[in-house]
This record gives sequence, C-alpha cells and structure tokens, in this order.
Amino acid sequence: MMVQSTRGGEMVPLSVAIARGQAADGGLYLPPRLPPRPGPWGLDLPARAAAVLRPFFAGDELAVWLDDCVRESFTFPAPVRWLDGDDGLLELFHGPTAAFKDFGARFLAACLARLVPAGRPTTVLVATSGDTGAAVAAAFHRRRGFRVVVLYPDGRVSPRQAHQLGAFGDNVTTFRVAGSFDDCQRLVKEAFADHELGRRHGLVSANSISLGRLLPQMAYYANAALEAEACGRAPVHFVVPTGNLGNGFACLLAREAGLPIGRIVLATNRNRVLPEFLRTGRYEPRASVATLANAMDVGAPSNLERLRARCADPAAAVTADWVDDDAIRATIADAAARRGVVVCPHTACGLAVLARLRAGGERGHWLVAATAHPAKFETVVEPLVGHPVPVPAPLQALLARPARAEPLEAALPALAARLA
Ligand SMILES: *Cc1c(COP(=O)(O)O)cnc(C)c1O
Repeated sequence: MMVQSTRGGEMVPLSVAIARGQAADGGLYLPPRLPPRPGPWGLDLPARAAAVLRPFFAGDELAVWLDDCVRESFTFPAPVRWLDGDDGLLELFHGPTAAFKDFGARFLAACLARLVPAGRPTTVLVATSGDTGAAVAAAFHRRRGFRVVVLYPDGRVSPRQAHQLGAFGDNVTTFRVAGSFDDCQRLVKEAFADHELGRRHGLVSANSISLGRLLPQMAYYANAALEAEACGRAPVHFVVPTGNLGNGFACLLAREAGLPIGRIVLATNRNRVLPEFLRTGRYEPRASVATLANAMDVGAPSNLERLRARCADPAAAVTADWVDDDAIRATIADAAARRGVVVCPHTACGLAVLARLRAGGERGHWLVAATAHPAKFETVVEPLVGHPVPVPAPLQALLARPARAEPLEAALPALAARLA
C-alpha cells in the first residue's frame, strides 16, 4: 500500500518508506488509512505475523517476499505467562539479544536485504541507548553487502549491554561515544543530513521510526490477543513500557486491525513527557534524565508524531502513567518475592503501573509487555532479588565472545573519518 509522511507530501510505496526510514520533510511515514481487515489469522506467531502484515504489503514490490521475511525474523516465540490472578507477562525477550527490538530489527534487515541494490556498499548507521544497537547488529551480522556502525554513549549502558554491543565483530563496528545518547542521535542525524557522506557509504537508517521495525511489532500483540481469546480471556488489555512509543503504537495498530484488544496503557519512567501530554494536551519535550530503565530514557518520544496524526483524541486511544526508580526497585523485589517472577527494570515500570490500576479497582485480563530479559540488567536486578539471574543461551553466547568498542569524539568530522 501507499504511505504518507505525517507532515503531508507525496504518497510513496511502503517499500520506499522502509528503504528511506524517515520522510524527506522530517515527518514519519504512516498509512493514511488502515488497510482492509486481515484474516484468517492463522495459528502461530509467524502465521499471524504474515496475516497481520499482508494487507500493508498488498501491491508492494516486497509482497512476494513477505512470507520469507517473516520466516527469517519470527524465529523465536513471544509466549504469554499468566501470573497470579488475571495479570500476565507477554515475554518479548527470547530473541538473540534478549529484548523485543529483535523482532523489528530482524524484519527490517530481511526487507532491506531485498530492497538494496546488489553490489552497492551499504552502511547501517545506528545510535543506541542500549538495546537497539545490539538488535540491529545481530540482525545484520554477517549479512552480505551490509556493514553496521553502532554508536553508544560511553559509560551509560549496562555492563552486559556494553559487552553485547562490542561482541559481534565481522561486519559490525562499535563506537563508544564521549557523550550522551542525545549526542549519538545528533551525530547520526548529521551524518544522514550530509548527502555526500550518505552517498559515499550508502548510509541507511535502522532506527525505531522505520515502518520496517514498527509494523512487525503488531504481530506479537495479535498473537497474544488471539491466544487470550482462545482461553476465554478476551478482550485482553495491555500495559506497554514506553520510550519512543514504537512498541505502544504497534499495539494500537493491532487493535485498529480488529484484534480483541481492550485498553492500552503506556508506562514510562521519570521521563514523563507522554503521561503529561495525555493528561494536559500540551507536548513539552525535554532533555532526558537517566533512570534504571535506561532504554526508556527519552525526553522527546519520536512516535508521538504518529499518535497525533492518527488519533483526533490521543487521550481517548491510550492512557499513560509513570514511575520513579524507587518504584522500579520495589516492583522488581516484590515480583520476585511474592509472584515468583524476575523482571527487568523496564518491565517493572509496566508492572508498577498495572499494580496502581488494580489498586484503583481495575478488573479484567491484563498483560504487561516484558520488553527485555532481566539478565541484561543483572547489576540492578540481582541485588534486589537476592540471587543470580540465569543468562539465556543466546545472550551467554554473545557474552562469551571478546568485545571491542572504539572511542569516538561526539563530532561529525570524527565519525566521517572513521566511516572512511
Ligand atoms: C526500546 C525499549 C523500550 C522502549 O520501547 P519504545 O518502542 O521506544 O517505546 C522499552 N524496554 C526496553 C527493554 C527497550 O529496549
């Protein structure tokens, strides 16, 4: 189907939007209306991913590849784990880098591998606050014709995140930037704005505003909602730990596509621009503050522009709440002691917000998106739960490799020199 920038302008085919990442006018691509309702839904996650994505790809040059792209990217499960009562977790951390971003990054890589002309050197340039860089690096690792350049803020990711980012090697180069995540993002933006640099290295973007990452995230919400329905738990409501609002927006699209999803509640950390916008109607971006849930330390959530373009009344479509680091710590400890489940700090934001909803009398079946595996944040989690957190096998494999990240000054000339 054809898609359009949130700021207007020409319609482009979906595959063009996926190849470009962001629209030339600075807006974000979005289908102007939803495609016809998909279905039949299929019986497992890959089948449901293909079913929910197919209408978006109708008539597109990627349509013939859709099944292959889904098969390559949905290679691990997204199981639902019901806890006590009607609360559950949607576990999105069973991929190669143990965070939900594996789904989107792998689907994007599968699409780009079919869109980028063969023989042209292509560089995927990505800034990361911790999880994106590893997911993107893993998705493109050893893919012919691609190299990946990852920028992360030195000293501001967890020790295991840092090791993971530097552990790929081969076609992946990792830089630890002297600066904040905002500095890394600015560097990437400046690199893309430099057309000569972009042409010379075939720069492509893999950040979370790409529709190639956003759309496939609908699949696990579809799968979980249909599973809940099959066991008499429809409609299911979701709490989504949120930073840039990519994951939460995908949940909204899944509901619009006709899946049995009830309320959607966004959970943020102390970076509470979204809850305040939804409460007051005023959008006031600010510099991010560091929290225990570092992948959600976002002061200007990029996908908010999509929410505003899509919904005449955003506050009627989603609500949001926020928690501080003390609540994150208390929730991690409580979930382990009382519910027998160990969660990462991001998932803890979601559980804390759900606990507040329950305390306010909220009923029904609720799932919290468990966005990362707790073993990625063991320095926070282990002291709170009082025992080591077993490391999942894919993460173990990465941690066993030697890691290497080169220092980089937060300035474009320094980056340009290293790209050459
Ligand atoms: C990226 C990330 C988030 C935030 O997701 P958005 O799509 O930016 O809202 C939450 N938790 C974890 C573990 C992440 O890596």
